[in-house]
Amino acid sequence: MGANYDPAVPTVASVLGYDSGEQITRSADVRRYFEALRAWAPDRMVIGEQARTHEGRPVFWAAVGSPANIARLDQIKANSRALADPRRTSASQAQAIIDDTPVIVWLMYSVHGNEISPADAAMAAARHLLASRDPAVQAWLANTLVVFVPTQNPDGRERFLNGFSSGFGTEANPDPLSAERDELWPSGRYNHDLFDLNRDWFIQTQPETRGAAASVREWRPQVVIDAHEMGTDDTFFFPPEAQPLNPWIAESTLASRELIGRNTARRFDEAGVPYFNRKVFDAFYPGYGDGWPGYLGAVSMTYEQGSARGLAARRSSGEILTYRDTVRNHLIASLSTIEASSVNHDRLLKNFYDYNADGLTGRGAYVLSRSAWDPAEADRLAGVLVRSGIEVGRADAAFTACGARYQAGDYVVNLSQPQRRMAEVLLAKEVAVPAAFLAEQERRRARGLGDEIYDVTAWSLPLIFNTPVERCASAPGVAVTPASDAMIAPTAVQNADAAYGWLVAPGVPGARLMTAALRQGVAMRAMDKPFTHDGRRWPSGTLVIARAGNPADTPRLLGQWAATTGAEVVGVDQSWVSDGPSFGSDDAVALRAPRIALAWDDPTDPSAVGATRYVIEREFGYPVTVVRTASLASADLSRFQVLILPNGGAYKTTLGAGGVTALREWVDRGGTLIGLGAATRLLTDPASEMLASRRENAAVADGAEGGEAAGDKPRVDGALIENETDYLKLVGESERGPDSVAGVLARADIDPEHWLSAGVAPSVNVLVQGSDIYTPLKRGEGTNVARFGSSDALLASGQLWAENRRQLAYKPAVMVSDHGRGQIVAFVQDPTFRGYMDGLKVLLMNALFRGPAHSSPTWTQ
Ligand SMILES: [Zn+2]
Repeated sequence: MGANYDPAVPTVASVLGYDSGEQITRSADVRRYFEALRAWAPDRMVIGEQARTHEGRPVFWAAVGSPANIARLDQIKANSRALADPRRTSASQAQAIIDDTPVIVWLMYSVHGNEISPADAAMAAARHLLASRDPAVQAWLANTLVVFVPTQNPDGRERFLNGFSSGFGTEANPDPLSAERDELWPSGRYNHDLFDLNRDWFIQTQPETRGAAASVREWRPQVVIDAHEMGTDDTFFFPPEAQPLNPWIAESTLASRELIGRNTARRFDEAGVPYFNRKVFDAFYPGYGDGWPGYLGAVSMTYEQGSARGLAARRSSGEILTYRDTVRNHLIASLSTIEASSVNHDRLLKNFYDYNADGLTGRGAYVLSRSAWDPAEADRLAGVLVRSGIEVGRADAAFTACGARYQAGDYVVNLSQPQRRMAEVLLAKEVAVPAAFLAEQERRRARGLGDEIYDVTAWSLPLIFNTPVERCASAPGVAVTPASDAMIAPTAVQNADAAYGWLVAPGVPGARLMTAALRQGVAMRAMDKPFTHDGRRWPSGTLVIARAGNPADTPRLLGQWAATTGAEVVGVDQSWVSDGPSFGSDDAVALRAPRIALAWDDPTDPSAVGATRYVIEREFGYPVTVVRTASLASADLSRFQVLILPNGGAYKTTLGAGGVTALREWVDRGGTLIGLGAATRLLTDPASEMLASRRENAAVADGAEGGEAAGDKPRVDGALIENETDYLKLVGESERGPDSVAGVLARADIDPEHWLSAGVAPSVNVLVQGSDIYTPLKRGEGTNVARFGSSDALLASGQLWAENRRQLAYKPAVMVSDHGRGQIVAFVQDPTFRGYMDGLKVLLMNALFRGPAHSSPTWTQ
């Protein structure tokens, strides 16, 4: 590919002291090299910043193009945005833009920090563009504008490199057991908050993803590549992808992916690089870096290189894979992408315009109601949609849609908009998995083979945010004001100077106000039951803050918190309650600020513990102490009132029998122990003596015995095997769980009588993953505060096996039990999954803050 280089252009060796691919470059050094290239060719490169990580590192982009293009970057961006909005760009204007504007090729690298070679390949590719004397490369620079994002996750890359460097000896060791290549928990994959940034694109909890999405919306690239690594034994993957494909991906996008893929195949053949397509990596979940940009009309693709996870790796075959090989392969793929984009310039820009024009042919609208249990959830949802480029309108007046009445302030997403497919993919209740793919998965399951579903099959945002939504066949005619991405609608305290004090409505904003006030030492009570005050019915979970016993500046603080949280705060002049419990009754429990410990390190799932910490600390502004799980066994926990065991693996092994006993005794002394997801296995293990619920084996269908183990009997009862299904059951494992579920949204009904459900909607949607199903607690053993619906009613969205659906019916989703002076709470499925299960956050906050209020813990300073 034109290796005739101008030797004067800075090389990696001249700037960093080693040849490209000889070392794994530190994030700061990647930046340093790009700065050196820019200093050499300021007329052909511009560098900017799109995010700062939580650890303070920049995420930068570097645009490379011809001097003429670099001189008119803003115009190029504006042209691209004009093509993205055919309402203001006619077909002839679009043609003029296409004739005049380069294709924007957006190349993103190493989003997973331990997927190391892409960032080094970005440096090599940028140098190639600037140093090559090949006339073809000059044509690329004129026809394309190439934007590199070389280190999408610099914090994760540094975490990897710290482990790699400290384990390194005198030379690269290819042994898979060598410490330099055997990463410690939590590994370099995740960012600082331990989020998988390649799942975060539509929810944008992390600064890296928010910055990336904002950049893509500003530049509106036509081609987007997300360059990764995979297992060492694998070769190289590029699209076409595996099934299932998301049905909202446009045909033209798939065709262009294949066009670019064929060019990469040609270049790999020339270089003798093996590769594969159509396996493993699917295109269904919209939160991937190759997913989300695609719904804005980009040809977006994932590239995956088998990782050396160091400077050299011995594959199972005995072959040595060097870091240099992996960098070279990503370099070839990046350049072949630029080449194909240059050659297909007109087609790619025309397709991009047509994609957005096609959005305008949509009909109807999604209508999101604020009049739900927690109206602020609709505001948060609207903000999330705006951050994905969707145009959302807030109704200026009351209106009728689909025969229902809506209020001013409710939201309308008109489906005649360029971002129609993005709106559909995020708002639709169901995105169908293709039938042929499903049939194949059922065949595999019947033979005891695992399914091939790569990620969750449900993410419908109205379900996740517990916000009522209707898809109406015609858009309502009401005038709307464009919604912003603010997420929170600030409120003001009503009747702020009231004589007695203030009531705070429950919900996510109320919980955020609660944590802020507890940290300031504000005295408050939480109502366990609904009540009527001054003619208004207040739900359980309402907070009561009296003037008496609180500092004089409490009204000012409440005003601040109402503005920052959006909580509804209403001043009341007297405490008389006309129905329900009084503020001085024992149904009004005093809240205090608990010290919360969160298990950390093995065996927790890094992304789960990260999401749990993120929700509590960053969303609710309340600090936790993360404690290594192994330390919990012998630690003095008496200064903590709450301990969370996040979703994870074998707690029993890490804690040991003594550690489990220590936790149980801490609960007996008043602690609130909260298990999330698979941590429920520990709480329900008979040896733990904590919760009376038990994890279930797969239910056996009528007529088929579950394969009884022979045990130590010399002979067993004879069995008739009537058909192959029964045969397969008999040869299966004797004790096995239900088949694993990739991830669906399932409806759970709430028991409104319990303090744990105070202020929670009557039904919530739970992300169900894996195979854990538990027996309900019996009366006297505790309370099933949330339980799944009937088998007909429980599935809200996604692909759930029929056997699992039947077995999940009426089983607990959240359990709680008094234990000694404390509480044990089990969320059978993780309520903090990816930080986005908004409808479950009040339940979690209740467990954290009301749990200690309903226990008798030790409060120490
Ligand atoms: Zn990856």
